[in-house]
Amino acid sequence: MANHQLATPPRLFYEKDASLAPLSGRTIVFAGYGNQGRAQALNLHDSINKSLAPGFIHPTILVANPTDEFGSRASADGFEGTADWAAAAARADVLFLLVPDQVQPRLFNTHFAPSLKSGCTIVVASGYNVFYKKLDVARSMDLVLLAPRMIGASVRSRFEESMGFPCFISVEQDSSGNAWRMLLALALGIGALQAQNAAIECSAREETLLDLFTEQAVWPSIIATFREAYSTLRRLGCSDEALVHEMWLSREPAEVFGKAADEGFFKQLKLHSSVSQYGQLTGSKEFEVRGLRESFRKVAEERILGGEFAKEFEALNGEREGVEKKIEELFREAELCELGVGEKRVRKRLGLES
Ligand code: NDP
Repeated sequence: MANHQLATPPRLFYEKDASLAPLSGRTIVFAGYGNQGRAQALNLHDSINKSLAPGFIHPTILVANPTDEFGSRASADGFEGTADWAAAAARADVLFLLVPDQVQPRLFNTHFAPSLKSGCTIVVASGYNVFYKKLDVARSMDLVLLAPRMIGASVRSRFEESMGFPCFISVEQDSSGNAWRMLLALALGIGALQAQNAAIECSAREETLLDLFTEQAVWPSIIATFREAYSTLRRLGCSDEALVHEMWLSREPAEVFGKAADEGFFKQLKLHSSVSQYGQLTGSKEFEVRGLRESFRKVAEERILGGEFAKEFEALNGEREGVEKKIEELFREAELCELGVGEKRVRKRLGLES
């Protein structure tokens, strides 16, 4: 596969690079009021309300969602809402597409795209449907990626604490010639640029590769490592009680990752004993990585960039039930391993679950 290594580091954008001015007088539609939709809509609403720029006309925020639990939540939060997708689309100057990735193509292509005005900015929070070309975005539209690296609850709580959050951004289609200004206004509005946080330029291709690779290679190899380590140590006489605590219930791994973020990936090792530092540094050098490297290559080049995973996921044939059923089956299977069974018994014994 061709080498895509970047010749220069990506651009970083700060608060000083952005202004809310491009949002003046616009209608901003949020399709979806779930994890990201609610957090981003509330943050944008609060940012807009705080804007004191002369001549700034307050934008209108409209939530498009079925009139069920999420729709009612939007009304309770004070937003104007509608369950009429086409009517919402016809009013949108900016459309945030914040429904689950598997739902987006049908919802957007069937219900939104035919009614959108030319010049509308479509905002996605994940590169997936853009990279796999699942959205029929007309040439007259702008298409931007604004992807928080954070769950929705933290997008909101970090905004309320004026902390900002890491975010990947890119312009995927710039029909107006103004897409970057609009994207930066939206990044500022949802609070990503607070507290000197930088939004990192990262294309939909790169975001999809990073996101899916972390989910399909990094964490699976860690899950497999934990599962195999658990069985190995159990065979050698370690109890479930000790194993569960040693490996995660103590929260030591969470603390180690916290320190890696605070102090540096390798530097945090200095907080461990000499035996531990020596063991970790020599061990990681000698560990057999050839098999892992080949597995990683396959996941990245064949499953993700080659589109195998997207095809397989789509074949589950369900915006909801098909995917959920399969995931339940995979959970049942995963929980049958020694680690799963051992943990369940220990958690019951400790009164952590019934
Ligand atoms: P959610 O699962 O929280 O979305 C729920 C919303 O989508 C609800 O408003 C729900 O309404 C609506 N919805 C679900 N199914 C349908 C349907 N078939 N038709 C119409 N509306 C539907 O999504 P997220 O916020 O998790 O994800 C949104 C985007 O953000 C995705 O692109 C995701 O990749 C991205 N993202 C998510 C992150 C996260 O932490 N979750 C982090 C960063 C990016 P109702 O149930 O009422 O129908």
